[in-house]
Amino acid sequence: MTIRHLSFSITLECHYQCTHCDMWRLKDPLDALTANDHIDLLRDISQWNPPLHLNLSGGEPLRKFQHVLDVIGEASSLGHDVSLNTNGSLLTPSRAEQLLKAGLGTIVISLDSPHEIQQNKTRGYKHAFRSAVDAFLMFVELKNNYQFQLYSLSIIAEWSIANIGELVKLLSSLNVDGMLFQVLQPNFGNPYNATQVLQLLDDFQSIAPKQTILNGVHKLHKLQNQGYPVLITPEEFEFLPHYFNNPYILPEPICGAAEGTLVVDVSGNLQLCYNMSVFGHNDLGNIRFVDVREIWYAQNELRHRMKSCKLGCGMNQCNIRKEWD
Ligand code: SF4
Ligand code: SF4
Repeated sequence: MTIRHLSFSITLECHYQCTHCDMWRLKDPLDALTANDHIDLLRDISQWNPPLHLNLSGGEPLRKFQHVLDVIGEASSLGHDVSLNTNGSLLTPSRAEQLLKAGLGTIVISLDSPHEIQQNKTRGYKHAFRSAVDAFLMFVELKNNYQFQLYSLSIIAEWSIANIGELVKLLSSLNVDGMLFQVLQPNFGNPYNATQVLQLLDDFQSIAPKQTILNGVHKLHKLQNQGYPVLITPEEFEFLPHYFNNPYILPEPICGAAEGTLVVDVSGNLQLCYNMSVFGHNDLGNIRFVDVREIWYAQNELRHRMKSCKLGCGMNQCNIRKEWD
């Protein structure tokens, strides 16, 4: 059992005020990990685990630009494949190039709507649309000089589903290599909560009736068949309608977090998925005080329970999927 997907939360803080995420209300704790803490952890893990995929996220991780740069540089020199999620607003052409020079393999930029007013409104930032589009263009400019993947990440929600075709075509015109989609989830920044999920679904369906959602999902599938790089597997397509019927419980487990995910929160607490409190564990220890290798290999009982977990958070892009049969 090796770590295949390692996730570092660089910061909880963000200057957007998205309607679906409360992270912007959070402040980093005083014990937040430094770049050196992350680098030491990477060196430790690299001694006993083969190269893996490292994802850097937040909050908005580029609020700590030098930290991100240092971690990418170290991870890449250790042979890991690194991706970075960003809203794009703190990028400049020079910063984009520095990230690639350091070894960034995949940049993931959030864009949910093809309409400027809509994007700015749901992201709670008046330049959100322009910032994302400019960020895509900055990376497109660098495609001839660096090898990397340019990805988009879009939330499937009432404000995006009706215009999903237009969004895909806009992203395609921006030359993205892959389009990731993430279902609307319980508000990030708060603990997972069943009542909140059901309320969320109610809100969602009152604005976007079920048929609109299904039509949007069908449209996405059609666009994928037409050759647009929509990164949704056939199995995930099968599960999308189920999720919007009942976002709390899926018909069967699809989450692969148990099979290779290690999450390190902003303070260095270790988790095997983003919702481990449902298993009665807030965390498995802190990297400053425990032997990470020992913790990683001691979780058979927890992994066993996770493998049969059907919670809707398994649809989240932050988790790897189980190996489909
Ligand atoms: S979704 Fe991203 S951009 Fe929006 S508030 Fe949360 S961390 Fe910031
Ligand atoms: S579905 Fe996955 S991420 Fe959600 S609680 Fe279960 S194991 Fe964790």
